[in-house]
Amino acid sequence: MLKKSAYKRVLLKLSGEALMGDDAYGINRATIERMVADVAEIKALGIELAIVIGGGNIFRGVAPGAEGMDRATADYMGMLATVMNSLALADAMRQAGITARVMSAIAIDQVVEPYVRPKALQYLEEGKVVVFAAGTGNPFFTTDTAAALRGAEIGAEIVLKATKVDGVYSADPNKDSNAVRYSTISFDEALSRQLQVMDATAFALCRDRNLPIKVFSIVKPGALKRVIMGEDEGTLVHV
Ligand code: UDP
Repeated sequence: MLKKSAYKRVLLKLSGEALMGDDAYGINRATIERMVADVAEIKALGIELAIVIGGGNIFRGVAPGAEGMDRATADYMGMLATVMNSLALADAMRQAGITARVMSAIAIDQVVEPYVRPKALQYLEEGKVVVFAAGTGNPFFTTDTAAALRGAEIGAEIVLKATKVDGVYSADPNKDSNAVRYSTISFDEALSRQLQVMDATAFALCRDRNLPIKVFSIVKPGALKRVIMGEDEGTLVHV
């Protein structure tokens, strides 16, 4: 018998930087295509998938490029960067035969449709991938928080935080050879050990909503599918 996936509806958070590949900025074609191949693999399992993508590969509100700028203005630029990434990702999915819809938290009606929760739920039920663009729509927040917020809103069973590191470690694995990866860890323990899982607002929201987080590597081939199958991949942060 075919093994069943561990989840039915998930929210995947991709950082903007994950799209850069080895480039210094922007969107690397081969990288985005590989990510879409990972998405296709889990879509084939019948997973309902929503994605929040960051904008750090194009613009970050607190980066040197924004130095001297009004913070809220810089943050709006960051949110617009996530719209560009969302469009690129949705287009790459379209080319791979995956139907996707981009919904924006900021009204840009000529470019993408606005975020309307019942519509997003309808798309998910229809099997379409929904890409939530423009973060939360508010400055002073991050796309991690948007992922937690939208994940809670759509009733996702888990937030999958895709990073370049394959989980949460006891110390920085790049600096400390004794660092060990946690297979699972509770929100409370992650907090008391001051481990970086998601930013504080996102972390608090997930904890409050009893929404588990899985931190895993998007650069590791096949990792997304193993996460979906409930295998020991990355770190599961739970209540
Ligand atoms: N941003 C924001 N509000 C949000 C989401 C994002 O102001 O709800 C801005 C913020 O300036 C941030 C930038 O958009 O630096 C890009 O988002 P993020 O840093 O989360 O992207 P990632 O690190 O995942 O690429």
